[in-house]
Amino acid sequence: MNSIAIIGSGPAGCYLADHLLRLLPDAAIDVLEKLPVPFGLIRYGVAPDHQSTKAVSRVFDRVLARDQVSFFGNVEVGRDVRLDELMSLYDAVVLATGAARDRRLGIPGEYLPGVVGSGAFVGWYNGHPHAQAVGVDDVRSAVIIGNGNVAIDVARILAKGPEEFAGSDVAGEFMAWLVAQPLETIHVVGRRGAAEAKFVDHELAELGTLQRARPVVSDPVGLTGDTPVVKTLRSFAESTPRDTPVTINFHFNLTPTAFVGDGKLQEVQFRSASGESVILPAQMAVTCIGYEALPCCSALPANGIFANQDGKVDERLYVVGWAKRGPTGTIPTNRVEAQQLAQRIAQETQSGDRPGGAGLRKLLQERNVRWVDYAGWQRIHAAELARTGAGRGREKLSSAEAMLETALGPEGQST
Ligand SMILES: Cc1cc2nc3c(=O)[nH]c(=O)nc-3n(C[C@H](O)[C@H](O)[C@H](O)COP(=O)(O)OP(=O)(O)OC[C@H]3O[C@@H](n4cnc5c(N)ncnc54)[C@H](O)[C@@H]3O)c2cc1C
Repeated sequence: MNSIAIIGSGPAGCYLADHLLRLLPDAAIDVLEKLPVPFGLIRYGVAPDHQSTKAVSRVFDRVLARDQVSFFGNVEVGRDVRLDELMSLYDAVVLATGAARDRRLGIPGEYLPGVVGSGAFVGWYNGHPHAQAVGVDDVRSAVIIGNGNVAIDVARILAKGPEEFAGSDVAGEFMAWLVAQPLETIHVVGRRGAAEAKFVDHELAELGTLQRARPVVSDPVGLTGDTPVVKTLRSFAESTPRDTPVTINFHFNLTPTAFVGDGKLQEVQFRSASGESVILPAQMAVTCIGYEALPCCSALPANGIFANQDGKVDERLYVVGWAKRGPTGTIPTNRVEAQQLAQRIAQETQSGDRPGGAGLRKLLQERNVRWVDYAGWQRIHAAELARTGAGRGREKLSSAEAMLETALGPEGQST
């Protein structure tokens, strides 16, 4: 029997477990996750008002429920167990650890209060247990830097009024902050032209349907090209202006040069394609310029990913998902990639009579690590649904301690 450890329970890890079981139905697959709860960015990245996208977690839940799969939540590789220990316990080990660190622009003022990376901001509105509040108030103008779908998510979440979050699982603390802000303008700024923007068209078009906000284009004459995105932007520019409290203003061909403020952000400076300086006043800025993988013990990423050849990092060590290819593609991209990697692992893996999960459990018990198994996760899931009020999505438990207590009891331990 093969024993395989997958580090990370996001889409890449869950799809991989699913495909491995199709090819190796007798394998024992252990999914290790540093948070007490599974599903990675499905739970803490995908926008809370896009519940139909988050619904894919039901598919992943069925994978974790399989007899051959064991979930080890609250087990961080690097904190609770080392990668070399896993390599000696399992026949194959897979890094499915995602890309959790916000890329930085590397310009002055990036650490001013009010400037935040999208990973941190998105984690906050999704109720991530380690997320921190943005820490600024009286936000009238917000600048969002980036021309991908995360920038659109952030703009839409900031632009919506409270009633537009019906059915969502947006974090209560974030909502209390949002309704208190006198927000008037959201600037979405891209370094390149509109034709090169990486927005998915229907996500962009959704901004034209909001109640509290309307999208405008700062320089409609400069909208060149004929892509679906350019056409949608043109339709924004040509539509009869609605009277809304908030405006979402699209700018292109502006390179950020500095965040400026006295103790907190006051303006963002840009350089235009013709070399002129452009200043946008802002009390808050969110950089949505991508993510990079974090080290996992001795495995060190280079250029934001773990170097690999078609998913293979080293003998018996593999990588999948954002940790393999960087922050690109959609959720189904991870399925295709996981399917290919599962074939490779199934071909290459031989049973080495390694102890697998029994060895991991022994090691965690010796170290007094409290881990959350699938039954424990189900207790958290049930508790969150039970807390949920009418007209709301899931009411997530907000701290890791509350999750552990719900899963295990005050002194509890999984077996
Ligand atoms: C803001 C945002 C919105 C998005 N919205 C959409 C959308 O609407 N539609 C869409 O198709 N795609 C969307 N995506 C993309 C999608 O989320 C990714 O394609 C997908 O999550 C990548 O999967 P992954 O498993 O590689 O990484 P992740 O989902 O990040 O999962 C990695 C997991 O590994 C765990 N982990 C990391 N390090 C360790 C460790 N040392 N030990 C144990 N566990 C560890 C993490 O806690 C995490 O659970 C969005 C992404 C972001 C950032």
